[in-house]
Amino acid sequence: MKAVNTFDEESVADFMYLHISFRLDPLYAEMYIDSEGKHVCIRCQKKYIHMRHLKRHIKFECGVEPQFTCGYCLRKFKHNSHLKGHVFRKHGVTYT
Ligand SMILES: [Zn+2]
Ligand SMILES: [Zn+2]
Repeated sequence: MKAVNTFDEESVADFMYLHISFRLDPLYAEMYIDSEGKHVCIRCQKKYIHMRHLKRHIKFECGVEPQFTCGYCLRKFKHNSHLKGHVFRKHGVTYT
């Protein structure tokens, strides 16, 4: 019977792979959890209770150039819904 080697190369490789792939998720480098258990963006210190909201913030909001431009005054918005609200309020047009 072969002796069981707990540090055989394959399981170490598996462990390293899981460990590294977790750490390599670029989003984890952009956040930390504060003393209240909230998820904090390291760039702008914005706090979110839910990690998925912080992930969305990091991916689509933080440091991201506004992508939606008002066709009437060329103001830029980060969210399509903000643009729609702006166009409705400022220009009296229901934007579709
Ligand atoms: Zn941020
Ligand atoms: Zn406008």
